[in-house]
Amino acid sequence: MQQTVQKSEISVQAELGSAYARKTVVAKILTDRLTNKKREAIEREYDAFQRYVHGEEDVELYSAICQDAFRHIDRDEIKDGREYPVPIRNQNFDVRQTESDEPSRSDASGDVDLRRDDNDVADWWLKIPVATVYGGVNVPIKPHEPIPDEAELCDSKIVRDDGEYYAHLSIEQQVDVSESYDGVIGVDFGVRWAATSVALPSRNTSFYGEEIRRVRRHYGELRTRLQEKGAYRSLRQIKDKERRVVEDRLHKISRSIVEEAKERNAFIVVGDLEGIDGGDKGAEMNRRLSQMPHYKLKRFIEYKSRWEGVVVVEVDEYMTSQTCSRCGNQDTGREGQGRFLCDECGLDDNADKNGATNIAKRGLGKSIERPLSSLGASVDRLERCHDETTSGTVLRSGEDTEAPTSRSEGVSPNE
Ligand SMILES: [Zn+2]
Repeated sequence: MQQTVQKSEISVQAELGSAYARKTVVAKILTDRLTNKKREAIEREYDAFQRYVHGEEDVELYSAICQDAFRHIDRDEIKDGREYPVPIRNQNFDVRQTESDEPSRSDASGDVDLRRDDNDVADWWLKIPVATVYGGVNVPIKPHEPIPDEAELCDSKIVRDDGEYYAHLSIEQQVDVSESYDGVIGVDFGVRWAATSVALPSRNTSFYGEEIRRVRRHYGELRTRLQEKGAYRSLRQIKDKERRVVEDRLHKISRSIVEEAKERNAFIVVGDLEGIDGGDKGAEMNRRLSQMPHYKLKRFIEYKSRWEGVVVVEVDEYMTSQTCSRCGNQDTGREGQGRFLCDECGLDDNADKNGATNIAKRGLGKSIERPLSSLGASVDRLERCHDETTSGTVLRSGEDTEAPTSRSEGVSPNE
């Protein structure tokens, strides 16, 4: 439901109350702890699926997977030499957590290695259907984060990457979106810092991800050297490695920002990244932009917030870095060496912090051009926001398939 709420000190346009959020948890299948029989059954199923997708008809596959294959994949899009994730439908698989006091047990197929207690092997198990073992195989997995009891399993997929198998488990849960907030956190995506956040009214400021620039420079130099040598295989590995390292940092940053929002009972305001993703630049350009750290970070913040029931508001970020966050002056503000200097009021502050403060104010429905010495100073001053019309739009990030340690975008080129 779409409504304007005016509770607490801040009003915000938001989708409130109960909502469903979905996310993907990547779980590594611990193949080294499998019996040979199970390992072979999984490899067999995966390879058979690849042959089936690539046009071979007489393959032995679990029937639901056959039926599903082209519900998820457009036959015209199939590329030679590519591997495709194996879909698993929610009614055909199951995940369970080993109870600490659970006695050693066997699964229906009698396929568990009885010499070891389940507990010694793994905390989490995934039962998936395969053509060759009646009842499927029960395999130990290591999810990158716990799967909540109340979460519902949705259609998921098995991905092979670099010889390892991963279950991309799609889970859904009901979340309660907070209806009243005590503050706001503005996030600026910058050059020096991947993200700078300013919480209002406390003005608490956090700088995140300076190391990402170094990481990218380091791998950039490595790539140049490998390119000169014509070492294309290593080049691809380096690219994957860089993507994983950067993504891992971005997940940590987005998690910290959402956690702070929860702690402060604040909603989050982000810029629209108009500079890079405004307008239609064509599919290829959009695809490349979507790989940029800022774009990814914004998406991670959006879907993590949704999962936690925190509202994210997107605002126009035009002029937010050129405007003085103290006096609203836009004429003589200068940016230099990461500082914002205002000739009007004498503000000399970190430039990213100044930008994030302006974004936070815009999220509160404030015009940042007007003198705004009141904003952010104290909660009672924030009460003035009551009569303001909010200008933010709420993002509905909905389903998102990003996940930490995800080693694949769903399709693994197999060159
Ligand atoms: Zn100023």
